[in-house]
Formats: sequence, C-alpha cells, structure tokens
Amino acid sequence: MIYLDYQATTPVAPEVAEAMRPWAEERFANPHSPSRWGREAAAAIEVARGQVERAIGLSGGSLAFTGSATEALNWAIRGTLEKAPNERDRIVTVATEHAAVLDTAEWLAGQGVDLTLLPVGSDGLIDLADLERELDERVALVAVMLVNNEIGVVQPVAEVARKAHDVGALMLCDAVQGLGRIAIPEGPDLVAVSAHKIHGPKGVGALWMREGAEPAPLLHGGGQERGLRSGTMAPALCAGFGAAAKLASERRGVDRDHVERLWKAALEALGEGWLVNGSIEHRYRGNLNLRREGLDSARLIADLRDIAFSLGSACASGSGRPSHVLRALGLSDREARSSVRIGFGRYTSEQDLVEALSRIAAAAHAQEGVAA
Ligand code: PLP
Repeated sequence: MIYLDYQATTPVAPEVAEAMRPWAEERFANPHSPSRWGREAAAAIEVARGQVERAIGLSGGSLAFTGSATEALNWAIRGTLEKAPNERDRIVTVATEHAAVLDTAEWLAGQGVDLTLLPVGSDGLIDLADLERELDERVALVAVMLVNNEIGVVQPVAEVARKAHDVGALMLCDAVQGLGRIAIPEGPDLVAVSAHKIHGPKGVGALWMREGAEPAPLLHGGGQERGLRSGTMAPALCAGFGAAAKLASERRGVDRDHVERLWKAALEALGEGWLVNGSIEHRYRGNLNLRREGLDSARLIADLRDIAFSLGSACASGSGRPSHVLRALGLSDREARSSVRIGFGRYTSEQDLVEALSRIAAAAHAQEGVAA
C-alpha cells in the first residue's frame, strides 16, 4: 500500500505512539482525581498543552483540548454567537470551508442567525474586497480557514482578522491543515486544530482562544477545562497530541523541504494532461488536487486499490455528491468528478510517490484507450 491521503489523516509518528503508551497502559489514573497518580496524569496534560500552544505559536491566549477539531469548530461558532450582544447576529464565512464550519453555521442560520458565504475565485482564494463589503457592526464572527483540506490553498488569514477586528467582530481560523506545515499568522481570536493531521492520534483536537475571546461552553458538566469544556480528559490522547506538536515544531523546516522536493517529483512523474485545482502560488504543496479532461476518478481509485488517494475530499467521498469546494471554484460537475486529491508528507518516500503517480498516469491513459 502506498499512502497518499495525508489530508484525510496522517500516519502516527513512532515518537507519538511511544509518548502515549504509558498513559494508555499502566498510568491509567483519572487526571482530575487528587491522588498522586491523578496529579501526574494532570501534569502530563499540562506539558502537552504547552507543546501544542508552542506549535500554534500565537501570543495572548491559551488552548482547551477537545474531542476533535469538529468539536472545537462547533464550540467556537455556537459559543461565540451565544455570547455576542443581541445586535451582533451575523456570521461571515467562505463557501469552501470544511463541513464542520459550514454545517454549524447553517444550523445557526436555521435558528435565525444571518449567514453570509463568501465566494472564491477560480484559484480558490477569497477576494478581500468581497469580505470588506460584507462586514458591518452586526457581524459577530468571521470564520476563514488557513489551508483548505481539499485543494491546499492558503487564505489571507492575517488580513481577514484585521478586517474583522475593524468592525468589532471576532475571527475564527480552522488551522487543521495548516498546523505544523505553515506558520499560523497572528490575528485570529480562535484557532481550531486536530492531532491526527500532524501524525498524532485521532479523537483529540483543541481550540486556542485569545484571552477574553473564550466562547460560551458547548459541553456542560464537570467543567474540567477551566469551566469552558467538560468531560474527563484523556491523558494518552493529549500526550500524543503534545508529542506530535513538538515533533512538528522541531521538524518544520525539514518537513517543508521534503514536501517541496516531493511536489516537484510528483509533477514530473505525472507528465502532460493534468491541471492543478486551486492556486499554485498560495498553496501548501503537500496537497496535489488534480484534474484531467474526461477522467473517471472513481474508476481510477477502484482500479488502483493498493494506492490510497482520494476523490477531492475524504468527507465528501462516498456521498456521491461532487465536492462543494471544486464547485465553488467554478468547475462543472463533470470536471469535479474528473479530479483526484493526492496528499503526501513526512513519511512519503520520493520513490513510492513517483511509482504511484506513474501508475495513476498509466491508468488514466488506459481509460482514454491510449497505451501509456
Ligand atoms: N477542518 C479541516 C480543514 C479538516 O480537514 C478536518 C478533517 O478532515 C476537520 C476540520 C475536522 O477535524 P477532526 O477530524 O479532528 O474532527
């Protein structure tokens, strides 16, 4: 199996598995109990918190662990609107956000919140003038992601935050695909991240909050995370997230150079006839979202079962619906269905990538009835 689906999830780093093991096995105490064991587990969570905060790299705030980035995003959006003054009843976000943002915002729209979805250009980027036109004193929250999960394009988050602040709104950034890969710019008040996209475990995310911008709680109960998020915390998952964040911080330059080399090798291996979806310039290059005239991408994936890659988005895959992101770029249903997403990173070897892409190119040629 050659794994090229790094946007869906990433392989667990050996250092992460090692950091989690004691907390999953013999050191099983409840981190909220006052015993010595409990206090040790609580201390491990605090070490992990510092590691993830340092990887996020923003000043003036702190984070709470959650069960996923999906939870962090639901919390940030619903909790911000709940806390906002009555006259601030608008959310501005983007048509290409992850479902965790779009579906939450749409749910709130069903409750009477005024929702604006900004369009993107054919490069997948928002136009800051469009944003400015939509902003007024009624906006409570502007939510714009850093790196798009389907096409890898990087939105101008610092400028968005500045414009949101100009009208007194808060800015939420979904940095799930950006953490550890590119720097998170200063500006956002709320930042959602997820461990499993940075070689950590599944089932743990976090919401970083600027001091004073904490949303109202989504989960009520024991109040374990400073009264903001309830539920017994998982020391093993937090320790794994911390170890993954520490590694990502230490390896940022090495990982970036590796991805850059892989990107170049990938484009060479593919040959003619492929178009990259989304901006090439403003992009995280571990995401290669490609389309090819007439390609049946579902058939391509079925023909190459020992290569893991995706139909645009892991979340939309299987639903039968063409990706909302590719449609937002202005692609037709047919073009969207002729697109595949190839994702690579730290543990992808150049040899595996080139082999997989040569086979993908050959299978695509075969669909056209041309010998590769
Ligand atoms: N946001 C983006 C951009 C993502 O890619 C994902 C995962 O696919 C999420 C949010 C949700 O993260 P989690 O799997 O931790 O719920």
